Amino acid sequence: MLWKDVCKIFDNIEKTTKRLEKRDYFIKLIEMVKDPEDLKKICYIAIGRVYPEYDERELGIGEKLLINSVVSIGINKNELLEEIKKTGDIGFAIERLIGKVKHGYLLYQPLTVDEVYKTLRRVGEIEGEGSQKKKIRLISGLFLRATPIEARYLARLILEDMRIGMNVPTILEALSIYFNIPKERLEKIYAITNDIGLLAEKLLKNELDSDELKLKLFRPIKPMLAQIAPSIEQAILEMGKAQFETKFDGARVQIHKSGNNVKIYSRRLEDVTNALPEIVNAIKGINVDKLIVEGECVAIDKNTGKPRPFQDILRRFRRKYDISKFMKEINLRVYLFDILYKDGVSYIDEPFKKRREVLESIFGYENDFKKDRKRIEEELKADKIIDLSYKLVTDNPEEAREFYNWSLSIGHEGVMIKNLNAPYTPGSRVRTMYKFKPTLESLDVVITKAKRGMGKRKDWYGSFEIAVRDEEGNLYPIGHVGTGLTEEDLEYLKQRIDKIIIRDLGEEVEVKPEIVVEVAYEEIQKSDKYPCGFALRFPRVVRFREDKGVDDINTLDDVKEIYMIQRGRN
Ligand code: AMP
Repeated sequence: MLWKDVCKIFDNIEKTTKRLEKRDYFIKLIEMVKDPEDLKKICYIAIGRVYPEYDERELGIGEKLLINSVVSIGINKNELLEEIKKTGDIGFAIERLIGKVKHGYLLYQPLTVDEVYKTLRRVGEIEGEGSQKKKIRLISGLFLRATPIEARYLARLILEDMRIGMNVPTILEALSIYFNIPKERLEKIYAITNDIGLLAEKLLKNELDSDELKLKLFRPIKPMLAQIAPSIEQAILEMGKAQFETKFDGARVQIHKSGNNVKIYSRRLEDVTNALPEIVNAIKGINVDKLIVEGECVAIDKNTGKPRPFQDILRRFRRKYDISKFMKEINLRVYLFDILYKDGVSYIDEPFKKRREVLESIFGYENDFKKDRKRIEEELKADKIIDLSYKLVTDNPEEAREFYNWSLSIGHEGVMIKNLNAPYTPGSRVRTMYKFKPTLESLDVVITKAKRGMGKRKDWYGSFEIAVRDEEGNLYPIGHVGTGLTEEDLEYLKQRIDKIIIRDLGEEVEVKPEIVVEVAYEEIQKSDKYPCGFALRFPRVVRFREDKGVDDINTLDDVKEIYMIQRGRN
């Protein structure tokens, strides 16, 4: 498949702002593809990648290297910088200028998708001495053969930002329509594989039952997510007898084990194994060969037995150096709460009750509030690295409340309420798992704009537009936040924001939506100020959520739900 044919469709996709039209153009693209391998690559490329989404590798080519590469084929550097300033996009800038240089797209064979993809993968693997030069050679070799429009998308792919507004949900929808397979089925497979290219390839080969699309060790799957419970009583009404668990305030981990090989993934499926050696060790000690389990990692204060602030956990997760020093300062404990795989058997379709039984059978105890409360309390300060979440199975609201109050009294943030008959539903927010906290839920939102600061904040950005999303990933501003930030935070934000500016609007800048913050607020109001119809009253930043990405932020539906709950509580 020729690169130029794909670029033509990308251009159509880029020009429309309507999601459904983008989807329909993508369907046209699928119709054109004959080779399943090509379809795989095109799916990755459409979302600005050359690696599957679960794979953490990045091309890591900076703008500077890209500029040097195109300058090396004769584009004038100053003109290019000027053009970037004008258009705000290096892709457009190169597209405009590349026609001026004498280059070879008339002489050579046209570029293919396969060549572009493979060349960039090679670039990504070059390391060591002289690597910059080698990279420039490979990249400029591609540009030498690119027509202007091909150069636009080549440049953007190199920077891993296609700017055409394609995302995984839209591709899934396109695949579902083209192959006439229910979207829900594809979504489920996607949540297990996190590999849109592989899924598309298998669809074209008619191999949707392939083992490669099943749960696999060392390929993390998207976690099952919880809904907010209106109340404990309501949850019991819906579920009958349910499993209540302490909601630990930490970072979610998914742990894969095969013999002595252990990998730990964060909620965003990043590999955090190296930062957590004591957990790796403790997992190695579990007497099961192959395992995928999930849990919440908390920092424990050894003196009080209570959890320490969330920031401490993040400090451990982000650590690349001095790990052993930090290990002594910040003690971690993982409370396991689910099991997805054991010795060749997948448990994701088994009811939760069964999964919990399997988990308990591995450890030989239950951590049941009724039976084990005394031991649990004694062990709060213990040197225990792996534990099971604390549970209570009941349909009695009073008992449940007692457990809830106890969970708060030992320093945790609330309870989870889980349907005993529910399967594990990867990647989706479901009514079979609820969370319930004493305060109004804080919201995880993404920063979409930043306003230049004044007065005391003149060196930084002063306030930030924050947004929630809908199921399809569209963003909806819901407020502006400027409080809850220290000078250090403002400096940090300045550094990060300056790197992700999309457009300079004078007083403010629009940024790539990737900085996730958790905000608390007085209440949610109905408001005309924002198109979504809601606004946060007095939002303040509680913390940066570096463990979350834009896909993990709260949705407009969450906002509506909290709004209803808040009305009920008032
Ligand atoms: P939230 O991040 O607010 O949607 O709350 C759900 C999160 O709570 C999960 O993703 C887990 O990281 C965390 N969590 C803490 N304790 C538990 C538990 N016992 N069971 C399930 N999730 C838990």
